[in-house]
Amino acid sequence: MEDFNIQLPYMSRNSAVPFTTYAQFLHRHFPQKVQKLPVDAGCGCPVRDGTLGVGGCAFCNGRSFLPLLQDEGWQVRAQLDRGKRFFARKISSGNPTVFLAYFQAGTNTYAPVREMMPRLEEALAVEGVGGLVIATRPDCLTEAWLQALQSLSRRTFVMVELGVESLCDATLDRAGRGHTARCSLSAIETLTSIGVHVGIHLILGLPGDTPAEWMRWPAMLADTPVEVIKFHQLQILRGSRLAAEYLRAPEQFTLLTPEVYVTSLADFLERLPARVAVDRLASVAKADEIVAPRWGLRPDDLQLRLVEAFRQRCTYQGCLCR
Ligand code: SF4
Repeated sequence: MEDFNIQLPYMSRNSAVPFTTYAQFLHRHFPQKVQKLPVDAGCGCPVRDGTLGVGGCAFCNGRSFLPLLQDEGWQVRAQLDRGKRFFARKISSGNPTVFLAYFQAGTNTYAPVREMMPRLEEALAVEGVGGLVIATRPDCLTEAWLQALQSLSRRTFVMVELGVESLCDATLDRAGRGHTARCSLSAIETLTSIGVHVGIHLILGLPGDTPAEWMRWPAMLADTPVEVIKFHQLQILRGSRLAAEYLRAPEQFTLLTPEVYVTSLADFLERLPARVAVDRLASVAKADEIVAPRWGLRPDDLQLRLVEAFRQRCTYQGCLCR
């Protein structure tokens, strides 16, 4: 890929892409190479256990979030050691690497602090682990959890990944999320105020959302201290509630094509401050789990298309920020 020669405030001059990458974000915090290692701590979530619902979020089948490496029960150290062995092939010898324990599956702050803290401490005790990334919902941050996260963040790098998904309340309601957009925005503020780094997940294409709707979101996010975004295109996954609805009445769904998705990403990023890094451009579910749409594209292909879209527009992330 040719270097992209537009200089952005938060990018090196010859960055290969016209948006801020997760690697650039990590480099602000770690001089060495960073590798995330997934951990499944066996956490549930309030939209599956009856607290807020039983069927889960409409788009979730529960399985796509499971780390590929997880076959060690809930033993945190065993999962991390296995992850280190798996990535050892990719990490060249002599190149120091710091590992981030990525508590990915389920809602990791839903369990009481006293139950979860030993698992987080177990992760931090593993050699080479230099921080925690904890996935959760914006409505599962009790006062006890905020105190625990603040205390951890004084000792080590802590990032919380919030499942924000949409910033439209009607869409969140339809998806069975059980929280509002305001809840997400205030969780970003609160976590940042206690020294925790914040990343969020957004899905483009949920039923009810349109490009006009999600073009409002960059300005909403620009007013928050969010640092990282993971983008997902809506994928209808086998076993999810959306899959049942889609198989019953596919004509009621407007699924994104790669062309519309890339255009949407470019439009979105032009309006998003360049201080916000992009961790992921699209979801990658296993082919046999996807009911629709089946794009058959690798993440690299999508990135190439996005870079080409920016090149044709002569634009870059943040160029249309207020
Ligand atoms: S998306 Fe998260 S909160 Fe929703 S059902 Fe899946 S794991 Fe639970």
